[in-house]
Amino acid sequence: MSDLKFRTPYGKNTGYQPDAPSTGDDHFDDDTHHWFQSSSQTPACVLEVGSDDDTAIAIKVIAASQTPFAVQSGGHVSNPGFSSTTGVHISLRKMQQVKLSTDKTTVELGMGLTWADVYEELEDTGVNVVGGRVPGPGLGGVTLGGGFSCFNLVLPNGTVTTVDTSQPDLFFALKGGLSRFGIVTAAVYRTHRQSDQIFGGFNIYTQDKTEAIIAATLSFYEDNTDPKAQIITTTVGSPLGTSTLVLFFYDGPTTPPSFEQFEKILPLTLLPNVRTQSFSSFVNGIPDQLVFNARGTFDTLSTTSLTAGFLRAVKQETDRMGAAMLLHSGTTVNYDIEPFLPSYGNKSTDSAYLHTGSPLPLNIYVAWLLEEEDQFWYSAIRSSIRRLKNVAAEEGILYKVAAKYPNYAIGSTSATALYGTVNAKRLARIRDEVDPDGVMRLLVLKCTSARYDVSNPVLARQSGAAVRRAYVYRVSGKRSDNTATATRFASKQKI
Ligand SMILES: Cc1cc2nc3c(=O)[nH]c(=O)nc-3n(C[C@H](O)[C@H](O)[C@H](O)COP(=O)(O)OP(=O)(O)OC[C@H]3O[C@@H](n4cnc5c(N)ncnc54)[C@H](O)[C@@H]3O)c2cc1C
Repeated sequence: MSDLKFRTPYGKNTGYQPDAPSTGDDHFDDDTHHWFQSSSQTPACVLEVGSDDDTAIAIKVIAASQTPFAVQSGGHVSNPGFSSTTGVHISLRKMQQVKLSTDKTTVELGMGLTWADVYEELEDTGVNVVGGRVPGPGLGGVTLGGGFSCFNLVLPNGTVTTVDTSQPDLFFALKGGLSRFGIVTAAVYRTHRQSDQIFGGFNIYTQDKTEAIIAATLSFYEDNTDPKAQIITTTVGSPLGTSTLVLFFYDGPTTPPSFEQFEKILPLTLLPNVRTQSFSSFVNGIPDQLVFNARGTFDTLSTTSLTAGFLRAVKQETDRMGAAMLLHSGTTVNYDIEPFLPSYGNKSTDSAYLHTGSPLPLNIYVAWLLEEEDQFWYSAIRSSIRRLKNVAAEEGILYKVAAKYPNYAIGSTSATALYGTVNAKRLARIRDEVDPDGVMRLLVLKCTSARYDVSNPVLARQSGAAVRRAYVYRVSGKRSDNTATATRFASKQKI
């Protein structure tokens, strides 16, 4: 018997008993919660899958009934409709396994975990994995938008498979190709030795220090050769001007020489935030969960290196976008500069997301309150990217092959812009082979049928049964509101 959990906006029905009484259920809200409210929709129901088999059943039913659906891991995607739906919302929250191999060289992690969960679980084991840097994002999106080790994948036809180098095309596709190839339930990550204590944290600097911080960021990029040292500098826009926040990390207990130039600049932060601490405490010290984002988006471009001219342009863009906040209900304008080592791409493998040439993604993050300002901000962020691309091209540092890191890219970005022409074509071929019936395209469809219209309270209360009736209707090709048939259908699917 499957332990699939089925939840509607009005309560919980387990075991697919049509019309079971509503019991009230706060998981529904948690399962569909997103970091950006604008990335959320109210689904007809939520399925909490707890195993590969559950996921296979769910995807078979979805395929057979052509039901629009969504897959959510940590819910931190910045694009509306990417992990939300008005149809069937698959929540991976129950996939929480952390299985460290006996020799500790690999760890299998469930896609319902957040990175903070993982770091806490691995604390005191002496090893760690490479992942997100703040507490909230889930393993699912971050892993599939970038590129990691080996995957448990439920294919669009419901087959459960392990994807590693023995399936080179799918392995390539899952490293950056996101949710186009099926639902990943877990992945095996290579571990790295982790010292008990690291040195890190963030400092906030007032507007008068912005020029100095940008200069120090450039020196860090040009001078640092130690792979254990990393910073991220965020220029923070506001109607009063641009301030900065710098996130420092050193994979060891003491401050490295490459941070020295920042030590001369007085931070606003009164608490000793940048300090020796455990890795897990470092990640949990970044308060992303305190941020309220009514509406928002990211967008990005990549450069091959950083120059003073480009960083000046980033500051000017932050000033310009910050100045627009008051008039357009803006709440956040951030530009994240990530001065990675110029050699990091040398370690990359055959991946959908190109690491060749060690591209440096610049992430722009804007948030605002009012829906009527959506068009203003979407258009403003695109214009900002355009201007920065021009500056990067003038400076000779525009990364032309594939301009955008998938996890930072705005929703309308083309596959070519994400992966480059060659990789985009290869991905399309793999998708057609793996998913000839286009099941994963149901991820982006909206429910148009009144059966899913949860704004109608009567339909909403019945939405659980309505979804099952829809399965029967679609599969048999005949309209049927007969719950007995629906139950038979559900039991045929063994759910
Ligand atoms: C505060 C914050 C900090 C961030 N920090 C970083 C960072 O340090 N590094 C970085 O690279 N990125 C970072 N990002 C960007 C982040 O990688 C993306 O937003 C990512 O999509 C979030 O993953 P998620 O699982 O939380 O999102 P979700 O919204 O749950 O999913 C994102 C996408 O992946 C799909 N998906 C999720 N799980 C699966 C699965 N198991 N199988 C198939 N498809 C799946 C979803 O359907 C959706 O399309 C950050 C974002 C935020 C908001």
